[in-house]
Amino acid sequence: MREPLPSAGPPPGLLIDRFGRRLHYLRLSITDRCNLSCLYCMPSQGMAKLPHEEVLSLEELARVARVAVSLGVDKIRLTGGEPLVRRNLASLLAELDALKPRPDLRLTTNGLLLADNLDLLVAHGVSTVNVSLDTLKPERYGPITGLGAEEGRRAFARVWEGIEAALAGGKLAVKINAVLLAGVNDDEARDFARLTLDRPLAVRFIEYMPVGRRTPFQAQRFLPAEEMLQDLRGMGNLVPLPARPGDGPAQRYKLENAAGELGVITALTSHFCAACNRLRLSAEGQLVPCLFSDQTLDIKSLLRGEADDAKLAEAMLAAAAAKPEHHQQNANSHRSAGCQMSRLGG
Ligand code: SAM
Ligand code: SF4
Repeated sequence: MREPLPSAGPPPGLLIDRFGRRLHYLRLSITDRCNLSCLYCMPSQGMAKLPHEEVLSLEELARVARVAVSLGVDKIRLTGGEPLVRRNLASLLAELDALKPRPDLRLTTNGLLLADNLDLLVAHGVSTVNVSLDTLKPERYGPITGLGAEEGRRAFARVWEGIEAALAGGKLAVKINAVLLAGVNDDEARDFARLTLDRPLAVRFIEYMPVGRRTPFQAQRFLPAEEMLQDLRGMGNLVPLPARPGDGPAQRYKLENAAGELGVITALTSHFCAACNRLRLSAEGQLVPCLFSDQTLDIKSLLRGEADDAKLAEAMLAAAAAKPEHHQQNANSHRSAGCQMSRLGG
């Protein structure tokens, strides 16, 4: 009988870090511009816009994506800033849609321009939109997002219209991301959960995180996910859902007989670094191995220099190798670290 062949190990050229984690999920921040100024994301004094030439071009973004796919990336999320304000987004989507093998394409948006862009997203096979929405009370939308009261109400209506249109079309999976802050919107967990009773959407409650040096963490606003879950358990039977391969960091649940599902993302109280599968690219062209780390790797200078695709691939492998085993943040940490969220995209 023939001896079994020795295990081949991982194929060379996949993005695998020093701890054996395969990084197959690329998050591309495609702009630092945003049409909102959420209180937990933007510095109160505002954020200077990057000069246009500092932001990666659509061609450069597409090239990074193509090389990443050749290194085994099979899921790409567009984020920002607000990705739907990026001019000529259609051409980037077309490039990503044509990649072989075709990655799963997703987008995170504040939803203000979702209704206007729905057809475009569907046409290019985007599978899922994550809509960031932190309140279901129109009068609260302005104060949370930096808009005036009336503008806030109108903006809320537009976001809601986008969500309803996406659900009605049935071609895009819809997730709502809500950051619950103590004393701001922590009384809304059950209202968000109720949305899942008759709508096939997923609500994700994200713990407030100390990210971005210029946005001081307001520790008194931090709400642990366990407290959110405690509140939701009061609604009835909250059934834990099993983790699926390729699942994100959310711990998933379902209210009994609900059409949709719920999840909490416990970035601080119980970190999920052991299962991290992400590599990030900031709007200004820095590869970012960890959301909470200041360590970045400049790929823009390679893109704008003489580097061929092999050199870009080397830079990505180096960024994977630089990924720390886990981040240093916890629920008592008050030190904001890492790149500004509005340039990195969460
Ligand atoms: N503008 C888009 C949006 O809001 O969906 C995409 C970029 S935004 C930076 C991506 C996600 O990061 C949003 O869901 C937002 O709520 C989240 N986020 C921003 N700052 C955060 C913080 N300090 N803690 C937790 N989540 C944060
Ligand atoms: Fe809000 Fe997203 Fe804009 Fe940050 S980038 S201010 S989270 S809409």
